[in-house]
Amino acid sequence: MTRIFSGIQPSGELHIGNYLGAIKNWVALQQQFSGSLFCVVDYHAITGNYDPELLRQRRWDMARSLLAAGIDPQKAALFVQSDIPEHTELAWIFTTNTPLGDLERQTQFKDKVDRMESIPAGLLMYPVLQAADILLYRADKVPVGEDQVQHLELSRDTARRWNGRFGEGFFPEPQAVLTPTRRILGLDGKAKMSKSLGNTIGLLESDDEIWQKLRPAMTDPQRVRKSDPGRPEVCNIFSLHKAFSPAETVAEVDTNCRTAAWGCIDCKKVLHANMVQELTPIRASAQLLADEPSRVLDALADGARTARQIAQDTMREVKSRMGLDPMRAP
Ligand code: ATP
Ligand code: MG
Repeated sequence: MTRIFSGIQPSGELHIGNYLGAIKNWVALQQQFSGSLFCVVDYHAITGNYDPELLRQRRWDMARSLLAAGIDPQKAALFVQSDIPEHTELAWIFTTNTPLGDLERQTQFKDKVDRMESIPAGLLMYPVLQAADILLYRADKVPVGEDQVQHLELSRDTARRWNGRFGEGFFPEPQAVLTPTRRILGLDGKAKMSKSLGNTIGLLESDDEIWQKLRPAMTDPQRVRKSDPGRPEVCNIFSLHKAFSPAETVAEVDTNCRTAAWGCIDCKKVLHANMVQELTPIRASAQLLADEPSRVLDALADGARTARQIAQDTMREVKSRMGLDPMRAP
């Protein structure tokens, strides 16, 4: 049986980069593979400075947004990481077995550290906790965006190292599952769209909020005047068209950009209409869930029950193979 696991941090609102890079795949894979698990990874979201009240709110909003985006609690387990203490227990075990150099080499760590004065050790250990998140469920496939591919490599190393020492074949080596839209850029057209960078379009934003963000968003920097021909291949708005617009519109955008038949605003208006069409039903489900919060709580409670069972089974086996099982007289 193939098992799917993935997680998302409640570090801000669910945005279209998360949606196109990962969540759309979660929704598709839950249909294909029963017993998939999806996790709001709140322990990952406390590695920097944060406000507890805000975190509480964001965890809630994230769970609600994921359900609205199509995670079906009848098909997959949706749960909150800190409800399952085995994540941190297994993470400790893996830290004892992970070379420091492998962690220091992680691009995301180097990027985040550049923006910090004092570096919490938890930030360095982040991929170890992530390996624990995945391996705790002995997951085979992990639907993620491109930025997580390197971390998954580390999860595979972790599985291999542990298996080599304590039990060949116990942990599968998890593979990334990527979407065609695996790396969405932020509205600045430079950095990856990220909750923590404030360059996002939220999945639940209103038509007008989306337009206010699209209108000034970066396009081809060489296209200064409307009469300048554009280069769709370097334009972030074009890549969003590929994600949200039908193929014939994408072809039309390509031609009208290269020939300067359309200005960037014309192009953005078409994109806006197609985004609104895809996002309106998600927004409507999110509203229904806000009116009926018990559906969110019930989904999380059911999901945690399923996850806990698997997590406890894995830890019993792991601890037994490591000589950490319940004490018996010699
Ligand atoms: P943060 O800035 O707090 O790291 P984030 O926006 O990067 O937030 P994560 O919770 O780290 O979101 O990642 C959730 C999932 O979304 C991961 O699978 C990640 O690879 C994917 N993802 C994040 N940003 C993008 C993006 N810009 N394009 C495609 N996929 C993305
Ligand atoms: Mg991230």
